[in-house]
Amino acid sequence: MNLSKLNQILATEPRYRADQVKRAVFFDLVEKWDEATTLPKILREKLKAECPLEIDAKIFSSQGDPTRKAVITLEDGVKIETVLMSYKSKKEDDETPRNTVCVSSEAGCSLGCVFCATGQNGFTRNLSAEEIVSQVLFFARLLKKENERVSNVVFMGMGEPFLNYEEVIKAIKILMDQKGLAIGARHLSVSTIGIPEKIEKFSHEGFQVNLALSLHAPNDELRTELAPINAKYNLKKVLHAIDDYLAKTKRKVMLEYVMIDGVNDSDFYAKELIQLIRLNIKKERQYLCLVNLIAYNQTGAFKSSPREQILKFKKILEDGGVQVTERFRFGRGIKGGCGQLTGKQKLEIRKQGRE
Ligand code: SAH
Ligand code: SF4
Repeated sequence: MNLSKLNQILATEPRYRADQVKRAVFFDLVEKWDEATTLPKILREKLKAECPLEIDAKIFSSQGDPTRKAVITLEDGVKIETVLMSYKSKKEDDETPRNTVCVSSEAGCSLGCVFCATGQNGFTRNLSAEEIVSQVLFFARLLKKENERVSNVVFMGMGEPFLNYEEVIKAIKILMDQKGLAIGARHLSVSTIGIPEKIEKFSHEGFQVNLALSLHAPNDELRTELAPINAKYNLKKVLHAIDDYLAKTKRKVMLEYVMIDGVNDSDFYAKELIQLIRLNIKKERQYLCLVNLIAYNQTGAFKSSPREQILKFKKILEDGGVQVTERFRFGRGIKGGCGQLTGKQKLEIRKQGRE
């Protein structure tokens, strides 16, 4: 779907037409222009010819896993991956299902974190705002058929959102548009490996979108080994930017820590992590930091920490006054878990066949 082309066509139409078209695409979620019956036939024909609505995607799912993955082929043939995680609340009084779409912000990633399949597969190109939004639209259309909607969007798929900052912000604004998909800012989250100047910029955007920082190590030596970008933006610089963000926005930040067996999961590192937060985040703002322990999805040489070690690590942090949560693993059967996205569909199918 080509949004820029759409905007070009609409530029010559009266304003109310543009609103009707946006409503059809982002609110009614039409998949064919013929379904947009509020539009005159002649405009529909033009849109059909010049701005097709189809999104070229293949879906992968596995039984018993509430996760579905879409491999989307973009106009130039580049493939990206998007994941839908559906979650039904166990609380009796809460009937609202949560449908979170995990979007890619780039095709591949240039940062080469050693534990991440996306990073290990290299970088192809940045995505445009419309290519980011299309990923959400694709699942929004699918969920509509199931009488549900996309409730949350996380920028935790392929790529580093803050190295494609402008397009990511544009996409966020489209996703939040009240007349369209209307996803509330608090239901949107951006995860970054930590690009200080972009964290700063983000703090000035004035919206309540959540921010997550991929920390993964409590000292520079280990973090640089895991995420080479740390050599340029070390922990002090990144956490200084985070502390500033907290001061400006008073919003919580999630510190993500992927638990890799024998690499970053020792008791010693848990204690070092407590110190890291104490030293780099002003005392009165430490309550805004929440560490999220993520079970590692195996993609290469590393293994996930055993459950007991994750719980032990968690307890040490809690005893040290740090707030901690744990993220469950979803989507591993379809290689749709965090860090497992590569955009390499062929490999995917072959591997699925073998499993
Ligand atoms: N580039 C951004 C966003 C995409 S990665 C970032 O790094 O934050 C989204 C999250 O998945 C990050 O926290 C990342 O560290 C984590 N991740 C990467 N590989 C993973 C793996 N194999 N298992 C679990 N989480 C992983
Ligand atoms: Fe890129 Fe994030 Fe993967 Fe690192 S973890 S390689 S920054 S996508």
